[in-house]
This record gives sequence, C-alpha cells and structure tokens, in this order.
Amino acid sequence: MTKRLSLITPSGRLTLGNLLGALRPMRCIEPVEMAATADSSAFYGLSDLHALTLPHEPSVLRTRTEEMALLLMASGLEPATLFIQSHVPAHRSLGYLLECVAHTGELGRMIQFKEKSRRVGASVRASLFTYPVLMAADILLYGATEVPVGDDQRQHVELARDIAIRFNTTYGRVFSVPQAVHPAAGARIMDLADPTRKMSKSAGDEHPGSIFLLDDPDAVRRKVARAVTDSAGDVSRDEERPGVTNLIDILEACGGSAAGLSGYGALKAAVTDAVVAELEPIQKRYRELAADRTYVTQVYAAGAERCRDATAPVLAAAEAAIGLA
Ligand code: AMP
Repeated sequence: MTKRLSLITPSGRLTLGNLLGALRPMRCIEPVEMAATADSSAFYGLSDLHALTLPHEPSVLRTRTEEMALLLMASGLEPATLFIQSHVPAHRSLGYLLECVAHTGELGRMIQFKEKSRRVGASVRASLFTYPVLMAADILLYGATEVPVGDDQRQHVELARDIAIRFNTTYGRVFSVPQAVHPAAGARIMDLADPTRKMSKSAGDEHPGSIFLLDDPDAVRRKVARAVTDSAGDVSRDEERPGVTNLIDILEACGGSAAGLSGYGALKAAVTDAVVAELEPIQKRYRELAADRTYVTQVYAAGAERCRDATAPVLAAAEAAIGLA
C-alpha cells in the first residue's frame, strides 16, 4: 500500500511555490485512500519543531502555525490525517535514535544546512545541523513509501533513505525505505523578483517576488506585472531567460497554456488569471474555516491521536532493535 507523509514548516506564509510543489501533489492521491482512518495512507502536517532551527519569535510561530493549519485544510487535504509534529512526541524520540545512526559528514553535506547557516552567520543553532535527521524520523515513523515534496527536498529524502537502510542493515529491518515524489510541473517555482532563486516563504511577508496563498487578486496582479523578464519578448522556455521560463511554468502548473501568446503583457495577464483562479477556492474555504476554529482544532487533535497510535509500534520496534528494550 502506498503510504504518504509530508510536512511543511510554519516558518513564514505559504506561497504559490508551496502549493504547486507540495500541497497539490499531496492532494494527488484518491480521497478515499487518503481518508483518515486508523491505518490511514496519508499523513500530512506542520513541522513546528523544524521552525525552531532558525531564530524565531514564539508568538509569530504560534500565529503561523494556526494560519497554515487552516490553509492545509483549505487546500483540499482534509481527508488525510492532519497533525502538528510537536503533538506527536515519537518524532523527537526517534529523531534521537537516528542521530545515533547518522554521520556528521553526511549532515555537513546538506545544501540547505550550508545555505541557511551562511545566512544566519555566527550563532547557528545545533538543531539546524541535525534537523534532516528529525525529518528522516518524521518520514520513517509512518512507514511512508512516498514523500511528496518540491525539488529542494530531494537531498533530505535521500538522507532518510540512507539512514533507513543503514539502520535496517545494522539492527534488523524496522523501516520502509521511502521515495521522494515530485510533481510533473511546479516542482521548483522561482522568485518573481529574482528568478534565479526559488520562491520562498521565508523571504518576508512584503517580498514582491513571492505570491502568498492569501494574496488578493490585486496583489497577485501587481506582483506578476512587476515580475522580472528580459528584452527578448519571445514567450518560450529558455535557460538563459529564467524569468519568462518561470512564468510559463507557473501558467502551465495552474492549468493554462502559453501556446499562441504573443508578448510578455499577454503572458503576465494569463499568469495572473490562472493564479487568481487557482487561489480563489482555497481562500474561500480558508475564510469559512477561520470562522469555525473549534472544528479546525478538533481535526488536528484527532489527527495527532491517530498519529500517536500509528507511530507507537514503529518507535517501539526501533527501540527494541537498537537495544533499549
Ligand atoms: P518549505 O517551504 O521549505 O517548508 O517546504 C515545504 C514544501 O514546499 C516542500 O515540499 C518544498 O519542497 C516545497 N516548496 C517550497 N518552495 C517551493 C518552490 N519555490 N517551488 C516548489 N516547491 C516548493
């Protein structure tokens, strides 16, 4: 049976990149299969522990987590088991066991660690170095066979595979070996203001290069209108012209087509319409859910309960295999 696990870190506001690279592919499993049952096949959630790896403000983390919890539901993931990572203590417990299997050399090679630690400067948190191991624990605890993620997570899922294989070989088979799955379109949406960088939710709430899921149509229009292009004027993909290529990627990932469009004005108008149409039903559902927070709390509480049940035997098996029980 296909089992899926994917988490998103509440470290900023969700972007169009998150939607196209992760949330939509997460939805691409039959709702019946996704359905939240005792042996549910889709576990999706918010990795709030990962948000502690960079300097953070506790009250902002709380607000972000709340907003994202609603957005996961509003994006159509409600049939899955939805949960918040810190509400399932097994993640931390298995994380430590896997730190005893992972090697510092392989963690030092993680691209995201290198990039983020460079950005932070002097006081890099130890957790930034070890969080890929916690991510491996997130995945392996659920016996996930597939991890729907954007392109940037490829290396982390590869590490989870290596750790699973090493643990199984050393201590006996406990874990399924997962595989990353990436969407055919939208696996790497780039920043509109700097199309050489990926669109990131941590670039700041006012960043003009990020389209946020809760941006109104005017904000989307303004950001797309200001998107960096070039002077060639030709609507076609070209490595040398990342801005236009990114706009075409966004258009196609949102179900549109660039065929027959002439000029960047027409391309930007088509991108705006496609993105606004993609976001509109999500925003409508978000507003409904925001008016019924008790229901949202219940969904996540029930999700965490199911996760605690699903993960307990895997953690127990790992503890027994490694010699703790
Ligand atoms: P993060 O924003 O790093 O917490 O990532 C959450 C999920 O969204 C992961 O599966 C990422 O791979 C995916 N993601 C983040 N940014 C992008 C982007 N610009 N394009 C496509 N997928 C993305």
